[in-house]
Amino acid sequence: MESREIFTSRSGGKSGAPYGSRNLALHVGDDPELVRQNREDLARELSIAPERLFFMEQSHGVEFEIVDEESDYREIRSCDAMITSTPESALAVLVADCAPLLIRGERSSAAVHVGWRGLFGGIVEKVLERFAGERFSASIGATICGECYRIGEDLLSQAEKRGFVTGAQTLDIPRSILKILHDHSGTRVIDAQWNGICTFESSEHFSYRREGITGRQAGVVIHGS
Ligand SMILES: [Zn+2]
Repeated sequence: MESREIFTSRSGGKSGAPYGSRNLALHVGDDPELVRQNREDLARELSIAPERLFFMEQSHGVEFEIVDEESDYREIRSCDAMITSTPESALAVLVADCAPLLIRGERSSAAVHVGWRGLFGGIVEKVLERFAGERFSASIGATICGECYRIGEDLLSQAEKRGFVTGAQTLDIPRSILKILHDHSGTRVIDAQWNGICTFESSEHFSYRREGITGRQAGVVIHGS
């Protein structure tokens, strides 16, 4: 089977306000039992075993972990990216404005959490090193867009120096990621796209900048066989 992917939204879960309704994060104050049910429902929807659906304890860092057949889904993974070559393993990245980046390669798949810290820290480049010599497709799900994501002067000038995509007072994370993918991987990129949905503008998605206390949606890649 080919590798697959899905990006969830707010709809289709069991959580109540302000996490309504499909919150998949345990760290935001929601009822853990409801979050577990939302996660199990997601696994069922993806036709995978709940114990093959892996989440991260994300910290805006640049560390990644490998998921294999020995991996235990209950273990805490303190990282911002996961990579696997094990068929029918599903890797989830949780977001509410940061970018969920999913990579489907010929031999492996990855889920990556990219906010400005990860972008500046080089997490995209670091994960791409694991795809050396491998052709891949990449998808970015709903994330705050380049018009809505206002940043301070200092960060803006650093972003410009680094060659990231910026506006007058804004940073465009999805387009900066696409630029890195093409700059570093060239012809190995089969396809790379952002779905064009801005979390800050979409009432169908969780947005930390808009709501403060809120849930997290997921980008999930299921590695094929
Ligand atoms: Zn926007």
